[in-house]
Order: sequence, then structure tokens, then C-alpha cells
Amino acid sequence: MENNILKDIPDMNSLINHELFEGLERERVKRAARELLGELRSKVLEGTLRELPALDECARRILIKVEEDKIPSLRGLINATGIVLHTNLGRAPLGMPLYSDAAGIYGRYCNLEYDLKTGKRGSRYSHVESLICELTGAKAAMVVNNNAAAVFLMLLTVAKGKRVAISRGELVEIGGSFRIPEIMEQSGAELMEVGTTNKTRLRDYAAAVEKGAEVLLKVHTSNYEIVGFTESVTIDELAAFGREKGLPVLYDMGSCFMVEPKLLGLPEGETARSGIQAGSDIICFSGDKLMGTAQSGIIAGREDYIAAIKKHPLARIVRSDKLTISALEATLRLCRYPGEACRRIPVLAMLSAEPEQLRRRALSLAERLRSVCPSWKVEVCRTEDETGGGSLPNMPLPGWAVAVMPEGISVHELDERLRMGRIPVIIRINDGAALVSLRTLLPGDEEAVVEAIGSAYNGE
Ligand SMILES: *Cc1c(COP(=O)(O)O)cnc(C)c1O
Repeated sequence: MENNILKDIPDMNSLINHELFEGLERERVKRAARELLGELRSKVLEGTLRELPALDECARRILIKVEEDKIPSLRGLINATGIVLHTNLGRAPLGMPLYSDAAGIYGRYCNLEYDLKTGKRGSRYSHVESLICELTGAKAAMVVNNNAAAVFLMLLTVAKGKRVAISRGELVEIGGSFRIPEIMEQSGAELMEVGTTNKTRLRDYAAAVEKGAEVLLKVHTSNYEIVGFTESVTIDELAAFGREKGLPVLYDMGSCFMVEPKLLGLPEGETARSGIQAGSDIICFSGDKLMGTAQSGIIAGREDYIAAIKKHPLARIVRSDKLTISALEATLRLCRYPGEACRRIPVLAMLSAEPEQLRRRALSLAERLRSVCPSWKVEVCRTEDETGGGSLPNMPLPGWAVAVMPEGISVHELDERLRMGRIPVIIRINDGAALVSLRTLLPGDEEAVVEAIGSAYNGE
């Protein structure tokens, strides 16, 4: 009996000549039709389909497939979670103005490794090196694909085959299986654990040096904080000690600011400049955390070390591409003018947003949402936003959100509709309400949130 229906499945030709497809690219229609026919066939064979859809219905489904085929897998979306550096949502957004400057580079040829003055070969690092040096006070700098690569390349070049002292309190795992002890092992450095998990003193490093430590490494404890009965050695103290002993001091800062956090109204946060000023021989950190730019790892410090890192055979494997370098250059140029940087670098603008300003935006968004979902309850409420990205783990940011409490559908259903919409909106669920945090909305996002929630309300 199943075989009978199999025979009735429409053939390709009668499908693709349907009037619905007039004006559409034939290859696209064919591909979608083939997919539908395959699905029908397997459902019939499985026994889950007993009656075939009519020809018109088949054509309608093919049209939907043609439309769906145009939606890319990697898409822009709206981060309404209030988590500024959301690891799953691509960490730092560059913002459309900075992005447009940078993206122009992808559309054409550029002087990536070409010196326009001499007409000879140039270096890709030259576009950002002097800017990094100006902003950090370092003598030399380079960039690589991400900070994990920066740490690895730094250890490989400076610490391979050497004994490296690091505090037991800093043997961190960052996520995605990036663990300091394993990275050290892979780089050929020999780990010398110093102190204890909660307490490490300078004399512990001194004991390690007595036993033959040749390099001192400090790692920022990015995603956790050891509190209570604790003691640790600051980078200033460690660097001074390294200088006294004539040993290189490497500092994986993880995330740090390129502009003073005080200008953002934040009580704490290290800057790249403070890492260099402390006396580290090399610092490295992520570009797409608190600096707020494209995914990258920035390495800065002593000229001889940086020159060696640039020349390392594996540097090529982790090098940055032209789009990244262009985005970095644009961001670094802005960082020279902190006021402008705070306004135009989205991560900095989000971190420095005043609660009062967020509250006003929340009130205005709530007003607009009430008109598109009149039978749902919509209120504004306080939130604790986060920096995220393992950057400032214990510093909640007081913020404001709009809380939407749907009627007739569950908040989880609303969450799904928002995720699956034309422009996905990622929200937080709290106490039966969908929270739209204002802090992480980019210019134009409010408009799109209203549209998305309106569509979800109408069951689209
Ligand atoms: C985030 C982080 C890294 C990894 O940086 P990516 O840019 O994600 O590769 C390494 N070390 C520390 C301390 C970090 O915080």
C-alpha cells in the first residue's frame, strides 16, 4: 500500500513548473524541490505519511524552503541579556560604524604587507604596533588571532625548555579547555608551582628561584576570585623581584582596558598601560574582551622579546587577518581619545551607561511594547547586568530591563519565538518574565525588539 503512494509523489518537472516559482532562480527551486521530495519519500517509507499533500501545498512548502535557504547559519542578533561580553554571542560587538570602516578592507586589495612610502614589502603588524605602544607605553607590540594563541606563543618563545614559576592560585582554566598547566606543557615550559591555592607570597617565588626557576609568569584569575583568607603577589611586586633576579616576567592579563576604567565610571579594572608600567617584560590580553574590538590577542613589551616572538616559526599559524587588523587599528585610533572611545566603542558605551539613562530607555521601550502586546503585562525593573567574558567576575552592573509577562503562552514559548524570529532576540528569563535588558542593546535594536515581540504576540 505504501508503494502505491510512493508512485503518486509528484515528479520534479510538474513541481518546478508551478506558477508560484515564476521569476525565481530555477536552481534554487530545484534544490528545494529535491529536498521536499526526499522528505516525502522517507516519510512514506517510514509509514508516518499516509496521505500525500496536494501539488499546490507541495509548491508552497518548496517556496518556504527557498526562503529558508537564504538565511545563513551565522547571523546577527540582539543581545538583550545584559551580559556585555557574552561568550556565546560573539563577545565584543564592534558596532556598525567601526565595522563599516573595517569591512571596506575585505572588499578590495589593501596595503596589508606593503609599504606605500617605499613601494616595498611591509609588515602587517606595522598598522597597529605604534598605536599599541603609544597607548600602553610598551616599546614593541604585535597581534595574533586570540589571547590563547598569544599566551602560547609567548611561552613558546621565551619559556620553552625553561622552568616557569607560577602561583598555585593562578593555574586557571578559562573555558573551552584552555588550561594554563596544559598550555605550558604543550609549549615545552616546565611548570613550577608556587605557594598555595589561597596564599602566595614573594618568598614562595624566591624559594622557586633558589630551586632554579628561570621565568616568572602571572595569570589574571579571570573568571573567579579567591576570597577570604588570601594573599597574592601583585604584578608590581613580582616585576620588581624579577628585575632584581634578572628573570623575565610574563603577565597574561586576560582582559584589560585600553582606556581608564575611571572614565567609564567603573571602580576597578586594570589597563594595559598599568601592566606595562608595573614592569612586566611582556603582557598579553584579548582584544575582544574589555578592549571591545575584534577577536585578537595583543602582545606588548620589551623590544627583544617581541622581535623574537614575531620571528617565531609558529607566529604565522596564529597571525591575524586583514579584517581584524583593520578593526583593531580603527579601535586603537579611537582609544587615543577616551571621551570619543567611550561613546563609539560599544563595549565601553555599554559598560559606562548610567542607570538613570537605562531606566529612561526602559520606560520608553515598555511604552512601545504595551502597544504591540496589549494583553500582556509589561513593566520596567532593575537588573544586575554583567560584564561577562570572565573579565570582572565580581562586579555586577546596576541596570534596567523591561519585563514582559505573556498571557496565553508560557514565557519559554515566548523565549523560543524570539529566538526563532526574523532577527533573533536573546533574552533572560526571570520569575516567569522575559527580561529585555537595555544595557546591551545597540542603536536600532529597540525598534527590532518591538517588532520581534509584536510578531511573537501575534503568534508569528
Ligand atoms: C580570556 C583569557 C584567555 C584566552 O583569551 P582568548 O582571547 O579567549 O583566546 C587567556 N588567559 C586569560 C587569563 C583570559 O582571561
